[in-house]
Amino acid sequence: MCIFCDIANKQAPASIIYEDNLSLVFKNIRPSAPIHLLIIPKKHIDSIDHIDDKDEALVGHLLCVAQKVAKQEKLSGYKLVVNVGRDGGQEIFHLHIHLLSGWNNAKDRDIIHN
Ligand code: AMP
Ligand code: ZN
Repeated sequence: MCIFCDIANKQAPASIIYEDNLSLVFKNIRPSAPIHLLIIPKKHIDSIDHIDDKDEALVGHLLCVAQKVAKQEKLSGYKLVVNVGRDGGQEIFHLHIHLLSGWNNAKDRDIIHN
């Protein structure tokens, strides 16, 4: 179990903006963009480095959820980022996709975000 499992199980608070049987989307507590959401599977998987063939549909589902949430939030464009492993900048070892958006200008938008 980890903090994102706790959020998925409603044992820890989060600002949830989307939920279905397989996934959850909530606001990042330390946003690095005006809109910074985290898309997680409810099932605990450490990282992209830990998926196997049986997770294929679930990982695809997370991308479909990203698109759905972007539509729901009326985002005209966004970035999806996945940090993998400590050397890839991953801090929480429960697979998640960062959805970043809402910049007012290209200068802010075009920096590398985590
Ligand atoms: P990563 O570096 O890819 O593992 O990103 C983990 C992200 O989770 C960071 O951007 C944190 O700000 C965010 N985070 C950590 N704890 C929480 C929490 N309890 N609720 C929402 N976001 C969190
Ligand atoms: Zn977990």
